[in-house]
Amino acid sequence: FFLTIEGCEGAGKTTAVNVIKQWLGSRGIDFTETREPGGTPMAENLRSLLLDHGDEAVADITELLLMFAARSQNLFHNIEPALKRGQVVLCDRFTDATFAYQGGGRQLDVQQIATLETLVQGECRPDMTILLDVEPEVGLTRARNRALKQGGKLDRIEQEAMDFFNRVRNTYLERARQFPEQFEVIDAGQPLEVVKAQLISTLERRLGD
Ligand code: C5P
Ligand code: MG
Repeated sequence: FFLTIEGCEGAGKTTAVNVIKQWLGSRGIDFTETREPGGTPMAENLRSLLLDHGDEAVADITELLLMFAARSQNLFHNIEPALKRGQVVLCDRFTDATFAYQGGGRQLDVQQIATLETLVQGECRPDMTILLDVEPEVGLTRARNRALKQGGKLDRIEQEAMDFFNRVRNTYLERARQFPEQFEVIDAGQPLEVVKAQLISTLERRLGD
């Protein structure tokens, strides 16, 4: 079972991943956890290049291809072997993020992204995607506060304009409408306890016995 988590900046993906891991553990369900872009040493290097590349401007197509290059490594080393072993795979972002960020945000051609999706993944698609939906204004405020607290800075993508994030969010919501069997949308603007409870009831419904 291939489970992915999606959402804009500051939607609470990390918290959600921790809730899901705890739930899987409490049920004795064997799982593998990974993230995108990343998951292998090479893919994590690609992540660093994508998020902090120094002064060199990144062409949109370069960004798209590096996302898929990282994904290909993650599929080859982590996701496909784990699915073959019969494990649940829990992945923080996957190709829906590419449709949302590179398709919606950067406005790259959706058909071309779909072509790369098939090239890189063959038939492999998430069985279920939890979309944590939050207004970009709210999410970015959270992300900025987190960056301030951790003494870090916003990554390259987090510095985009609000229009960009509105397109990202709308593309996620469009995909959720287009693939209702894959997507579970949770309103991540609600208090944390409510989000957690909804996450758990979603898992019970989709993965519980
Ligand atoms: O999931 P996380 O927030 O750690 O992602 C790191 C960064 O990569 C974020 O700024 C996110 O917006 C960006 N990203 C992207 N396109 C993707 C996946 C992630 O721009 N396909
Ligand atoms: Mg995160």
